Amino acid sequence: MKVLVTGGAGYIGSVVASQLVEAGHETVVLDDLSKGHEDAVPEGTRLVCGSLLDGDFVRGTLSEGFDGVLHFAALSLVGESVEQPERYYRNNVCGTLNLLEAMREAGTGRLVFSSTAAVYGEPQEVPIEETAPALPTNPYGSSKLAVDRLIGAVAEARELAATTLRYFNVAGASGRFGEDHHPETHLIPLVLKAAAQSSSVKIFGTDYETRDGTAVRDYIHVEDLGRAHLLALEAAAPGEHRVYNLGNGAGFSVKEVVEAARRVTGREIDAVEAPRRAGDPPVLVASSERIRADLGWKPEKPGLEAMISDAWAWMRDHPDGYE
Ligand code: UDP
Repeated sequence: MKVLVTGGAGYIGSVVASQLVEAGHETVVLDDLSKGHEDAVPEGTRLVCGSLLDGDFVRGTLSEGFDGVLHFAALSLVGESVEQPERYYRNNVCGTLNLLEAMREAGTGRLVFSSTAAVYGEPQEVPIEETAPALPTNPYGSSKLAVDRLIGAVAEARELAATTLRYFNVAGASGRFGEDHHPETHLIPLVLKAAAQSSSVKIFGTDYETRDGTAVRDYIHVEDLGRAHLLALEAAAPGEHRVYNLGNGAGFSVKEVVEAARRVTGREIDAVEAPRRAGDPPVLVASSERIRADLGWKPEKPGLEAMISDAWAWMRDHPDGYE
């Protein structure tokens, strides 16, 4: 297939773009490089640089003809979304609307969309199934849910074959591709940064109702997540919108992550107890039964230590990230 990867210069997009190339797909990356890195664009792909908010640019890009689009490009920081909701809705919703209209005009019939566990807000039951109520608690999650609904409506009206993947906590690295966010807010890279720089990491909240008082998350290796996209690309039929959760189904607490990082790095890692971070639910663990049953997906690297170890190797090879 000939595919377009929006956000293909970012952490997850670059890993998936490299997997697409490896699988023999002709792959073009669309990225505005506001968060992504030119050096992260995989070999064997072509970079088209521009913003999804520029309708003419998006139409022009799609007009060269693609069989499918994998849509990663988005803003994704919860705290920032609370302070700048308009920016989040504009980028995530209007950007996707431009993309969908350009796809329709160009006759591009397949879409895989990157969504998030944040659409579930504070779940009543864990593991979380796709049928759980979607009640996001911040504008980031709300904007992703709005896009999901938009895609559902367009799939039905325009015979689009669409699949939404709701990611839980993505971690690890893949070869020369790794996580390099500015600012970094994610737990595993921050714990490893503390290990590398002999600094400290904060534990946000030690009074949750969990086994050790710290928040529990479902970590999934970025390579396993990536493989799900290749399966999802061919999954839906025209007019169908599928939704799949993507996680391991096992939860690890913040303290367990720090402990695992101590074992992997052999370093002490100073962890300082701090108040809860606003908007963090106590436990987010996925049920991935649906994607396992429908697409035969299963994680090949479910171990937390393997994820941390791959992230650590990447960080040591790239002490200054991609710069
Ligand atoms: N966390 C933490 N210290 C940090 C960063 C994150 O204790 O420096 C916690 C955070 O409060 C959450 C978990 O680690 O409970 C995972 O956070 P992350 O930002 O990695 O992912 P999220 O689950 O928010 O998408």
